Amino acid sequence: MELFAVEGLPEIEPGDDLAALVAERVDLAPDDVVCVASTVVSKAEGRVASLDDFPPGPRANEIAARLEAITGEEKDPRFAQAVLEESTELLLEAPFLLTETRFGHVNVNAGIDRSNVPGGDLLLLPKRPAESAARLREELAADRVVVTDTCGRPFRHGQRGVAIGWAGLPASRDWRGERDRDGRELTATVESVVDELAAAANLVAGEGAGGTPVVVVRDFEFGEHAGSDELFREVDDDLVRQAIRAWHFDG
Ligand code: GDP
Ligand code: MN
Ligand code: MN
Repeated sequence: MELFAVEGLPEIEPGDDLAALVAERVDLAPDDVVCVASTVVSKAEGRVASLDDFPPGPRANEIAARLEAITGEEKDPRFAQAVLEESTELLLEAPFLLTETRFGHVNVNAGIDRSNVPGGDLLLLPKRPAESAARLREELAADRVVVTDTCGRPFRHGQRGVAIGWAGLPASRDWRGERDRDGRELTATVESVVDELAAAANLVAGEGAGGTPVVVVRDFEFGEHAGSDELFREVDDDLVRQAIRAWHFDG
């Protein structure tokens, strides 16, 4: 398969027709996977906000004060308020904010970005990235769309791209029931294909001033396999989340 960035996209503004801007710059082929950084989806959807939109309540003031004491850095309670409003569960409030967003994605600071946002404003994640992906897919007449975000992960340093919304392909490819080279049946392997595509696209998109938020993956074959759209674990089935809930930072 081949990956390439769509070149020449402008700074995306609220209300822009992102699909039209992309379609003008690339000829899509059947089965292409169009990977779009959530940053530009959010901008087009008007998810730009300012700190003043989030007058802090008591909880946000408390969180910011505690974070300030722990980190020795200035923490704006309005930012804590924005994170709270974007979240359905606060998993960690110290030494950093880890939350579940409304669509099931767990991320630091509810995925609110302050890089690649003009004027130092806040950029919230798309409200419903699955719907954003489906809409872009239709407007682009693309076969497959993945909305990505750069995200940290536990156990390892560094961030990488993950899928937060997708359309036109299953989230994962189920290997269970197939056999390894030894003839042993695979019983657990479910490959998160959309995350792997997102990570590859993110590698091409970059993180800085490159200006390449849209990456096309061409000639990727999902094949005739069983798939599933389960990506975000439910709490009952998430031991790590349960452990985090039970843990308290006392630094
Ligand atoms: P995120 O991973 O979705 O949070 O997005 P990033 O901020 O890491 O940006 C990914 C890529 O998109 C980088 O190459 C940025 O330079 C680029 N980018 C971000 N915003 C814009 C924009 O409005 N227009 C263009 N052309 N590129 C952008
Ligand atoms: Mn981001
Ligand atoms: Mn990024």
